[in-house]
Amino acid sequence: MGSVLKKAVFLDRDGTINEEVGYLSRPQQVRLLPGAAAAMVRLRAAGFALVGISNQSGLARGYFTEADLYAAQAEVERQLGELGASLDGFYYCPHLPEGTVEHLAKDCDCRKPGTGMIDQAVKKMGLTTEGSYMVGDRLGDVACGRAAGLTSILVQSGHEDWPPRTPEQEPHFLAPDLAAAANWILQRESGEDGPA
Ligand SMILES: [Mg+2]
Ligand SMILES: [Zn+2]
Repeated sequence: MGSVLKKAVFLDRDGTINEEVGYLSRPQQVRLLPGAAAAMVRLRAAGFALVGISNQSGLARGYFTEADLYAAQAEVERQLGELGASLDGFYYCPHLPEGTVEHLAKDCDCRKPGTGMIDQAVKKMGLTTEGSYMVGDRLGDVACGRAAGLTSILVQSGHEDWPPRTPEQEPHFLAPDLAAAANWILQRESGEDGPA
């Protein structure tokens, strides 16, 4: 009945795909992390949709504008494209309750660990959370993934956000980077190794 729902790997951006520089806002600051693009190519080849989900509170803080965000994101995607990789979707949360930009200074469902960006992507892109994954460099990424029912991997290529302080922040797997996270995912998918 209906079309087959697609599995996805939800990816944090800063510190997971590209170097964490602290409120990335200019194309010149974009540097992909080693092996990240190749990992995305392998995950795509295994049938996963790749969806970027990114907290961008710099918008609510007034550090940069949406035009800056789009320019930086375009550069991330350009560099990925040069290596044969791409995202199927990109969602960002511009909000922060204590922000200084009035219309963005609010509580929302989309700021991770909230699951709003995942919920939106699942609905719009015809995805299933079952058998899907979350990869990010912060415990909030893990908590977001867990809350959405995803197998959640913490990578240590950005913020060294460790150890978990609550059970919700406990990753299913701890990986040095996205390349290692992809290895683990693809090994599980091949059925060679059960979940930890
Ligand atoms: Mg991050
Ligand atoms: Zn939001």
